[in-house]
Amino acid sequence: MKKEPARIVFESVRKAYGPVVAVRDVSFEIPAGTLVTLLGPSGCGKTTTLRMIAGLELPTSGRMLIGERDVSGLPASERDVSMVFQSYALFPHMNVIENVAYGLVVSGTAKPAAHAGAREALKSVGLEGKEARLPSELSGGQQQRVAVARALVLEPSVLLFDEPLSNLDAKLRRSMREEIRDLQQRLGVTVVYVTHDQEEALAVSDHIVVMNHAEIAQIGSPRDLYERPETVFVATFMGDANLVAALLQHTSATHGDVRLGGMTLPVAHRGIAAGQVQVSLRPESLAVQASSAMHAGETHPAGILQGVIKKAAYLGTHIEYHVTTAIGELFLKCDEVLQPIAPGADVSLTPTGHGVTVLKP
Ligand code: ATP
Repeated sequence: MKKEPARIVFESVRKAYGPVVAVRDVSFEIPAGTLVTLLGPSGCGKTTTLRMIAGLELPTSGRMLIGERDVSGLPASERDVSMVFQSYALFPHMNVIENVAYGLVVSGTAKPAAHAGAREALKSVGLEGKEARLPSELSGGQQQRVAVARALVLEPSVLLFDEPLSNLDAKLRRSMREEIRDLQQRLGVTVVYVTHDQEEALAVSDHIVVMNHAEIAQIGSPRDLYERPETVFVATFMGDANLVAALLQHTSATHGDVRLGGMTLPVAHRGIAAGQVQVSLRPESLAVQASSAMHAGETHPAGILQGVIKKAAYLGTHIEYHVTTAIGELFLKCDEVLQPIAPGADVSLTPTGHGVTVLKP
């Protein structure tokens, strides 16, 4: 990629289709050279947001910048942006090299130079030697790479991906997402990537924009969103979360304690007022131990929550437990697979020191 990557700025951007508001006054900045995913449930507005960056839709109101340029009213052809579609959109009657060179040829590049550029782009996605094949003679993953090469050959300052892996099987999805991430880092290009798969978003992104109901629910790094979700929606969308009621007390300007079921857990209060709050407990926030490990007559130490195993599922690397407790049924994961605890057994739950977050009301 010879060109400088560009930042993308949205300032109060709205897109309405008649009475349907697909994107409601959204503001964010995607720093140049980063990979940002737009993540959210079906219908939340992520594809519309991507299509507005591409210039395939124009905003109803608000301002959009790519680099320093205001592109709010510019069509796709004037934006220096390439998009890889979910369907790949390859021309079935053209072979691989013609598909990849197509964009250069139609923009006036002579055929030999266009083919040289296409060969270079095919090399960067590991498809040398496949130039003469038709798309129908390629696997799904190879077709996906042709689609990426076709976008790369135009040397855009921004590369857009619309659910690029949804037509691939689970194993291939994983290796292709790593390839896209490697390519993005190697070329230093700005990538915006739409997905509804939270694991995919966590794996590839510098930042994730979580959307819900046409608005931004939260923006952050994968770690921010998993470890510090602000709302019930983000906590439950970004992984599994047990939601429990608790009492928050402030202990400093930044921290506090939450009391739940006899346990006192330290947390960052994030400005949330003391009193009754909702807390997210990740499945790894409490360690599960058989209570029989305690000696007869021994009283339970403070800070431990008692429970009874309701269900246990062995998953190879860990065991998932549903535990009935005084604060409700909890879904917990335990790495100790050698000594599984059977349903009906009494257990003690002890804080692991992470995975506890106070949510905004
Ligand atoms: P999905 O994951 O299902 O693709 P999405 O998050 O990408 O969903 P969008 O395609 O951006 O969602 O759609 C957001 C909202 O705008 C939806 O309610 C959708 O029905 C509506 N919408 C999208 N395109 C149009 C259109 N051309 N005309 C009318 N409504 C539209």
